[in-house]
Amino acid sequence: MKKVKDILNSRILTWVVLGVAAILSVAAIIVVLTHRAPRLATNYAKSDSQIITVQVADGDTLSKLLTEQGLTHADVDAIAKILKKDADITTLRAQSDKIEFVRDDENAPVSKFAIIPSPWRRVEVSRNDEGQWQCSAIDITPDTRAVYRTGEILDGDSFYLAGMRAGIPAGILADVYDLLAFEMDFERDVRAGQKFWVVYEENYSDNEKVDNGRVLAVSFDALRGNVRMYRFKKADGTSGYYDEDGNGAIKSLKRTPINNAKVTSSFSGRRKHPVLGYTRAHKGVDFRASTGTPIPAAGAGRVVARGYNNGHGNYIKLRHNGSYETLYAHMSRFAKGVTVGTTVRQGQTIGYVGSTGLSTGPHLHYEIIKNGKHVNPMTVKLPAISNLGSADKQKFLDYRKVLDGGIEKLAENPNLFIQM
Ligand SMILES: [Zn+2]
Repeated sequence: MKKVKDILNSRILTWVVLGVAAILSVAAIIVVLTHRAPRLATNYAKSDSQIITVQVADGDTLSKLLTEQGLTHADVDAIAKILKKDADITTLRAQSDKIEFVRDDENAPVSKFAIIPSPWRRVEVSRNDEGQWQCSAIDITPDTRAVYRTGEILDGDSFYLAGMRAGIPAGILADVYDLLAFEMDFERDVRAGQKFWVVYEENYSDNEKVDNGRVLAVSFDALRGNVRMYRFKKADGTSGYYDEDGNGAIKSLKRTPINNAKVTSSFSGRRKHPVLGYTRAHKGVDFRASTGTPIPAAGAGRVVARGYNNGHGNYIKLRHNGSYETLYAHMSRFAKGVTVGTTVRQGQTIGYVGSTGLSTGPHLHYEIIKNGKHVNPMTVKLPAISNLGSADKQKFLDYRKVLDGGIEKLAENPNLFIQM
């Protein structure tokens, strides 16, 4: 069984320099293959064997899909047992898992099948000579390449539009937003002329692109200075994002909980209230978003209040640690299962945008309370979740130097990639 190679462990980056023709052919392959199902390694020998591929849909169970293919209840029971024991599979995931059923010929019973949870793993189940079901999991090692994309904010642009124009895939852009949201305010920090770049992984199998991997590094020339983050794997095996000096870039709280939401009202000591008409402090930041947009917890914590009042409408308050609390107001509804006392992860949906309470339209009103005092979410200095120990820090600085050298080369020729 091949093991998925962990690119962040390999500190030696090799450079792949391709000729112009080769670059064009790679580009052509990428364009064609992103619209095609990934090719899968199969070793079904018989030429007249029949293969049926089923995409697991909502409400599908293993038992339902297997009996539909003519397997008996005894087969299903035996298969469920070995899948749990040998592949740790107990349920199927709708819209994600696929199953390939194989028959020796059109009218034969199913002789084997494969559950395919991702392009990089397949779990093959077959009957042995004694008639017993057995299973084996195959992990496919991706050929991972780090690619570089750079862009610039134009007049009237959003970071999202500029990112799409730079050829950054939507999924990678969403990850970049998630990262930058710890340090940036996309409303106030984005101006025409600002440049950014992203280095991320593309996974290939047999020279065909299959999917995108993780963001390895990102840089954005924000108004308050350059924001740069690098992904790095520590000696203990956990990975995180760090700034140039090796300080943790993932903060205890996000400044902007909802990605890509426009700031419609900033924090201020005094402002004219849009509904009440008189001047009073705005203790938070308002983000415009449509009704029903999920509201993620800005940080890990515990729900300490969930209720309704005339000003906030439906609101939730989280306590993150001894010093920090956050508050989310005007929700249309709360997320299922989120009540006072619930522990939430950073990014977990706690409710949905609405316009309840004193509100002129759907938006999220977001507050950060530090040691009992309201602070400006956009400027408060936030603690990092994890910083590097001295050994890891030295390793990080060495790794960063190598990666920076690579990024410099890619900046000169964006058609190259780093073979990881
Ligand atoms: Zn507000």
